Amino acid sequence: MARFKDYNYDQTKMIPISFDRQILPGTFEHSLTYLIENELDLSIFSARYQNDDGGAPAYDPAILLKIVLLAYSRGITSSRKIEQLCRENILFMAVSADSQPHFTTLADFISGSADEISKLFLQVLMVCDAEGLIGKEMFAIDGCKLPSNASKEWSGTHADLKKKKAKIDRAVKRMLSKHREADKHDLSDDIIKRQKLQCDKLKQTSKKIKQFLAENEDRKGVSGKTVQSNITDNDSAKMKTSHGVIQGYTGVAAVDSKHQVIVQAEAHGQGQEHNLLQPSIDDAFTNLSLSNKKKKQIKITADSGYHNQKSLEYLNANKIDAYIADTGFRARDPHFKTYERHKPNDRLKPKIKFTVDDFKVSIKNKSCTCPAGKAMWLKCLDGKIGNQRFMQFQGYEKDCFTCQLKSKCLRNPAQQSARQVNIKLGMTADKKEGLIEKMKQKIDSSLGRHIYSQRLGTVEPVFGNINTNIGIKRFSLRGKQKVNAQWQLMSMIHNVFKIHRFAWNGA
Ligand code: SF4
Repeated sequence: MARFKDYNYDQTKMIPISFDRQILPGTFEHSLTYLIENELDLSIFSARYQNDDGGAPAYDPAILLKIVLLAYSRGITSSRKIEQLCRENILFMAVSADSQPHFTTLADFISGSADEISKLFLQVLMVCDAEGLIGKEMFAIDGCKLPSNASKEWSGTHADLKKKKAKIDRAVKRMLSKHREADKHDLSDDIIKRQKLQCDKLKQTSKKIKQFLAENEDRKGVSGKTVQSNITDNDSAKMKTSHGVIQGYTGVAAVDSKHQVIVQAEAHGQGQEHNLLQPSIDDAFTNLSLSNKKKKQIKITADSGYHNQKSLEYLNANKIDAYIADTGFRARDPHFKTYERHKPNDRLKPKIKFTVDDFKVSIKNKSCTCPAGKAMWLKCLDGKIGNQRFMQFQGYEKDCFTCQLKSKCLRNPAQQSARQVNIKLGMTADKKEGLIEKMKQKIDSSLGRHIYSQRLGTVEPVFGNINTNIGIKRFSLRGKQKVNAQWQLMSMIHNVFKIHRFAWNGA
């Protein structure tokens, strides 16, 4: 019979721990502590402390920063969990030199340091630059929608919220009258207590909505239209994602193509990104203090969410070499012609009716013969519909009204006009010279497609790294400023990983 060594859980063991020896060279925590101790200027935190002449000494911001960044690098953003780690985890004990700050200290440090975090993000970016991790050849811009610390159930326009409040008030009224009725009968104390609690909760909710409506105006979206407000975090927005509708923020990042370093990061409480291209590019250029010459050399790529006339005008005015896809980009790409999801939307085409292709047309001879073999007359030689030029032909009423094929040809066989066909001649001159058309031609060229193809491999893995590898899948704070600080912390951690992996590996 096999024999095993004895073991016993009912015992204690004292282990001597040298904190220094826990932070091993070559590890991420070693790079992190080296970065904070030797490369970052933490005097930016000094103004927060006014205890020179009295009061208890504060925790060193270097210690707090090390703990917070180490926790974020493991996908932990909860201050309570970070406090717990500092008490129970040897590595956190070592990195924090066994400081064990209270979770409120950690929470205040993160939520009250938005400006300092912004400056630290830049300092880390400068280290990336000094280490040669930023190629400055192509920046890819995109956004990552993450849920925040607010429920979408508390969203709505002021009109929606007023309705919701009225509904709650009615429910309270109903419950009170039910309660009075129940008083006449003998109900157990437990049931009465539960009903009272429920009623108080609804009253509180109604009060909360009332207060919100009194203190806030209806929220306006980018286009000036009224959008849904949120009672818990009015800076956040209800947005559609591939995983359903969430209440949250869009973390926008401009990413350099060389080592996928994030050169600009900002969180926005809106789902639409079409107005965010200009601020992202401007901030990315400012963050890296680029010369005007360099700004014109860097290529910018962004997906169709950033494509609009205003952005293209900005790019054109500033002579920025940008490659911005439009919604029809994939449908025009011959490489995607077999992809069902990129096929042009032809739902509106009358499938059982004759199309232009069924008519025999000679633009040179200015002639057209219909499917019934009848000649049609030239109605317009060079007309214009929108930005498209057309040659237009029309059938003769005598032919169409008696035609056997009219059910397949006319939109409505009973119509009192003959069939018309518009033959495309091309785009109008102003459209040809338009910025949207120019961008289409630029991105459809072989070079354009080649440069744009790098966008996906540049920016998408960054979001994958933050969400999946690091494991941060949501914002835990409320309010644009605090959420922005959290997004910059996430981006900073991503960049510290790049420094650790590509610059100091094995340091
Ligand atoms: S309806 Fe008129 S245009 Fe159409 S096939 Fe008949 S004759 Fe030709």
